[in-house]
Amino acid sequence: MAYIDEIIGRIAEEYPEQKEYQRVVGDFLTSVQPVVEKDEERYRADAILERMVFPDREHAFRVTWIDDAGKTRVNHGYRVQYNNALGPYKGGIRFEEDVNADKVKALGFLMVWKNALAGLPAGGAKGGADFTWKGKSDREVMRFSQAYAKEVFRYLGADEDILTSDIGAGIREMGYLTGQIRKLTNLCDGRIAGKGSAFGGTHLRDEATGYGIPYFAEAALETVGESAEGKTVTLSGAGKVAVHAAQKAEELGMKVLTASDSNGWVYDPAGIDPDLLRQVKFAEKARMTEYAKRRPGSEYHTGSEGIWKVKCDIALPCAAAHEIGLSQAKILAENGTFAVCPGANEPATPEAAEYLKANGVRLFPYQACNAGGIVVTSLECSQDSMHLHWSEKEVERQLRHHMHEICRLVEDTVRECGLKNDYIAGADIAAFRRVYDAMRAQGIV
Ligand code: NDP
Repeated sequence: MAYIDEIIGRIAEEYPEQKEYQRVVGDFLTSVQPVVEKDEERYRADAILERMVFPDREHAFRVTWIDDAGKTRVNHGYRVQYNNALGPYKGGIRFEEDVNADKVKALGFLMVWKNALAGLPAGGAKGGADFTWKGKSDREVMRFSQAYAKEVFRYLGADEDILTSDIGAGIREMGYLTGQIRKLTNLCDGRIAGKGSAFGGTHLRDEATGYGIPYFAEAALETVGESAEGKTVTLSGAGKVAVHAAQKAEELGMKVLTASDSNGWVYDPAGIDPDLLRQVKFAEKARMTEYAKRRPGSEYHTGSEGIWKVKCDIALPCAAAHEIGLSQAKILAENGTFAVCPGANEPATPEAAEYLKANGVRLFPYQACNAGGIVVTSLECSQDSMHLHWSEKEVERQLRHHMHEICRLVEDTVRECGLKNDYIAGADIAAFRRVYDAMRAQGIV
């Protein structure tokens, strides 16, 4: 039996209930199969795949806190330290009701490759708890965050494991975690990233993911001798990622033709006005109908499928998973779209992804295009360890450099491995090679 099949089978047998973990490992190993197959016996002899797919350590703990009514509440907390061959474990914590051991493990596995692809001196980790801030008072969120910190702090360290923000664990929660961990350790170091700027947080924390996407597109265009100036863009979403992506795309000279929320989308032939979008969505928390009302010449449409019918050079799906189905993929290909650079995770259905790949549209991996956030948290750790605070301009310069480097690495791997238009395999293989080379050089540990 092929080594990869053996490992996939072993995981299914040993962790039958962990479907998400099985899925992400299966997808990744299938993607890197051509590399492993070439030297299968050596990989097998060193148990490379076992040492990659089974995390170094999985911590599960009880999180006990007291709610406003004085009732004692208990949640389940996790921290999975996956692989630290490239540097300290690093990854977000997610506070959401459906967090469980399976989900955290799957997300931790993906962080190993995302950090490796971004060229960061960081390993992969993930954590969280089955807790949501929704319906809780600020004091309850604080007491819960402190209780989580009391458990997780023993595993963290600036050179050991770095905790970053994720869904449900934003600036407020990171502040409470930082305060409690500082109290427990008496240390002010870079073991938490995504902090407030008054106590070691970096510039561009909120903007980084969105800004990084047009920078990636700019780099992709440069590989074919084109520039971003004058290119047309279709964009979905009007959240944190989409609004910042729209702003940066416009600054790079692109024309963003669309934006959406979950009710409908706007076509703005003059180019989406990022200031108006920000005002409507962030300041007023209004709907896209409001944008259309205030922008002469723009059109409002309900639903979201129509976005991808608008002819463009670059598509930036920044709303939700699986927003590009097969029919949208066909239109993107017919329209001669140069590339899809996703902000959203898994934006295309598997059939749509296959279609784009087979029909000449560059579907870049979301792990590469939306890596701006992890790049900037890494820059925050560097600033913390040097006790420096870089200017916004400096952080942005480094962000742009990293996004261009990621794009170049993916392009080079695709070319070198003869992967034709398979940029997802290119990214997986590039990340795999980085981790594999580091593990091999460090011996069997
Ligand atoms: P937000 O929740 O801030 O924004 C999502 C936006 O997309 C909202 O405007 C929402 O509308 C809209 N939307 C949701 N579903 C649809 C749909 N089916 N069709 C059209 N529009 C829709 O999320 P973020 O901007 O933070 O994240 C966007 C995506 O990027 C997510 O997939 C996320 O996982 C991914 N991502 C985010 C990162 C980050 O740093 N924030 C990092 C990496 C990935 P409405 O206003 O009506 O809710």
